[in-house]
Amino acid sequence: MRLGGKVAVVTGAGSGIGRAIAQCFAAEGAKLAALDLAQDTARQTIAAAEGAGHRAYGVDVADGAAVAAAFAQIEADFGALDVLVNNAGVQSAPGDGSEQLLKTGQQIIHMEDAAFARIMAVNVNGVFFCTREAARRMQRGGGAIINMSSIAGLSSQGTIAYCASKSAVLGLTRASARELGRFGIRVNAICPGVIDTPMTAEIPEAFINTLVSATPLGRQGQPEDIARAALYLAGEESSFVTGQWLSPNGGLVMC
Ligand code: NAP
Repeated sequence: MRLGGKVAVVTGAGSGIGRAIAQCFAAEGAKLAALDLAQDTARQTIAAAEGAGHRAYGVDVADGAAVAAAFAQIEADFGALDVLVNNAGVQSAPGDGSEQLLKTGQQIIHMEDAAFARIMAVNVNGVFFCTREAARRMQRGGGAIINMSSIAGLSSQGTIAYCASKSAVLGLTRASARELGRFGIRVNAICPGVIDTPMTAEIPEAFINTLVSATPLGRQGQPEDIARAALYLAGEESSFVTGQWLSPNGGLVMC
C-alpha cells in the first residue's frame, strides 16, 4: 500500500481524472476527502472506492470562504492532511468565445470579462485557496501537493483563459514548492495531454482524431494514465521531487 494511512484531499473528485485519482489513491490505502461542486458526484466516487472512512464534500473551489470552511471540516473529520490534489478545473465558460474559435479560429476578441474571470477563478484562485488551507495544516508534518495543469500550460493549444490559467498553475507550483520545502511539503504539477473525460467530450471528435494522429503513442490518454502519475508524486517514490511538472501526453507535446 503506497499511501497506507495517508489522508488525501482530491478536488474535482466527482468526474474524469479526479475520480480516477481518488479511486487509485483509495486502492493504495489512502483515506479520501473527495471534493466537488456537487457533493453527490463526490459521494458516487467514494461509494465505488476501495477501503472505508472516506468522506465527500460539496464546495466551489473558487470561493475562498467555502474552501476555508471545507478544510476546517476535513481537519475535524480526519485529524490530519497528507496529500492535496488540486484537480478541479474548467476549460470553458459561457461567453468565452469557444464557439467562434471553432468556426473562425478567433476567440480572444469574443471573450467576455465574466468568462475570463470565471475560468481564472476556478483554475487559479481555486488552486491558491486550497493550497493555502492545506499548507496551514501540513506545516506540522509535511505533505505532497499536486496541481493539475495541462499541455495548454506548456503550449498555446487551448482557449486564451485556459492556457493562461494552466500556465499560472505552473507558476503557483514553483513558487509554493520553493516556500514550502522547508516544512517537508513537496509541490508538483501534472500537465496531461488529451484525456478521455467528460471535459474532452465537449471537443469535436474530428479535432480529437487530429490530435491522436499527431501523438507518437497513437491513442488518447485515459484518466488512469494521470492517476498513476499522481500516485508517483503523492508517495515516497518522489520524495526528492518538488517544483516540477510531469506531462503524460503520449508524446504529443515534447519540451
Ligand atoms: P471533468 O471530467 O470536467 O471533471 C472536473 C471536475 O471538477 C467536475 O466534477 C467538475 O464539476 C469539478 N469542478 C468544476 N469546477 C469546480 C469548482 N469550481 N469547484 C469544485 N469542483 C469543480 O474534467 P477532467 O477532464 O477530469 O479534468 C480534470 C482536471 O484536469 C482539470 O483541471 C482539467 O483542466 C485538467 N486537464 C484535463 C485534460 C483532459 O484532456 N481531460 C487535459 C489537461 C488537463 P462539474 O462537472 O459539476 O462542473
